[in-house]
Amino acid sequence: MTTPTACRSLYAHVPFCRSLCGYCDFYSQVLDDAWVTPYVEAVLRELAGYAARRPLDLDTIYVGGGTPTVLPAGELERLLSGLRRYAPDDAALEFTVEANPATITDEIAAVLAAAGVNRVSIGAQSFDPAELRTLERTHAPGHVIEAVDQCRRLGVRRISLDLIFGIPGQTLESWWRSLAAAVAIAPEHLSCYSLTYEPGTPLCTRLNAGQVQRVDEDLEADMYEAALDVLPTAGLAHYEISNFARPGAECRHNLRTWHNEPYLGVGPAAAGYIDAVRYTNVADTAAYVAAVAENRSPWHQHERLSAEGRARETAMLALRLTRGIDCRSFAERHGQDPAVLFGAAIERHTRDGLLAVDDASIRLTRAGLLVADTVIADFLCVR
Ligand code: SF4
Repeated sequence: MTTPTACRSLYAHVPFCRSLCGYCDFYSQVLDDAWVTPYVEAVLRELAGYAARRPLDLDTIYVGGGTPTVLPAGELERLLSGLRRYAPDDAALEFTVEANPATITDEIAAVLAAAGVNRVSIGAQSFDPAELRTLERTHAPGHVIEAVDQCRRLGVRRISLDLIFGIPGQTLESWWRSLAAAVAIAPEHLSCYSLTYEPGTPLCTRLNAGQVQRVDEDLEADMYEAALDVLPTAGLAHYEISNFARPGAECRHNLRTWHNEPYLGVGPAAAGYIDAVRYTNVADTAAYVAAVAENRSPWHQHERLSAEGRARETAMLALRLTRGIDCRSFAERHGQDPAVLFGAAIERHTRDGLLAVDDASIRLTRAGLLVADTVIADFLCVR
């Protein structure tokens, strides 16, 4: 029997938040102290199970959620040090934790720094108090600045901020102000996402009831283009549809997923990709804890990808990157010329000015970035 290949990337999902934001459809529940210890024990046990079956040689760990920083300091420390056990080389490790600005206290920042966390991703979302209220965020703009200061003071080297555009009531001017406020903090990394109305969320219900209005499509495109224009001039290069970074500060963990490389996912609702199988854990903390405690798999669904399925996913994910599909490495990895495999989609979107193609790469143009989902979807199912 061959030894499974070593896994180098890990995602851990923390399913707790202080309160739930109306637009969010990530799996999370309001923090319930009774579930914290069973949850941490289950995550570490699930991970130990993987480690017993394959080598873990982690050089990226990403703890997301939910709100990891809502965990009590002692349990957060136990979780982070338990994950880090599988990362043998401190110097090579990118260790990211997502944080809600209102939950970063000196004590929590000290736990992050002591655990070796070297990247904190802070959900700023907006620097406009009214927009934060629309999103039902519990923090104020000032909390973001304080949280960044606390992290930096305690030695966390890299800060990433998330911003959202297309918030009901948002104007181009207020979006500019949020971008400027984010740039003033000098983060190493910035993500800009458009607001999506996920079915079943309270915000979507409010939209359907006419209580909030969607931002006009053209205005939303202008907001995205404002980010494309302003952030590179502030030293944050555009490297993925929604992501900008200082040179060398791109998120290595997410780059690995966009390069369609394997990663483990642990925790309720976590997704992973190992041995050509994509899986998702059950999105229910109690069911997850019970499954792990009883040595049952917490997988809720899984799918083994065919060779062609893997090739198509590699292309779709690579198109998210501004560098696009590297034709040579794609052909080496999948044994097919992407220009042939995706010939019809490439021809149509190149004709429409949405793709740029040369011998080395296939990538979205600026016009293509604005309709990226539509273009990329064609690489999954159209010849
Ligand atoms: S804090 Fe983040 S994960 Fe929690 S409900 Fe709000 S958006 Fe979702």
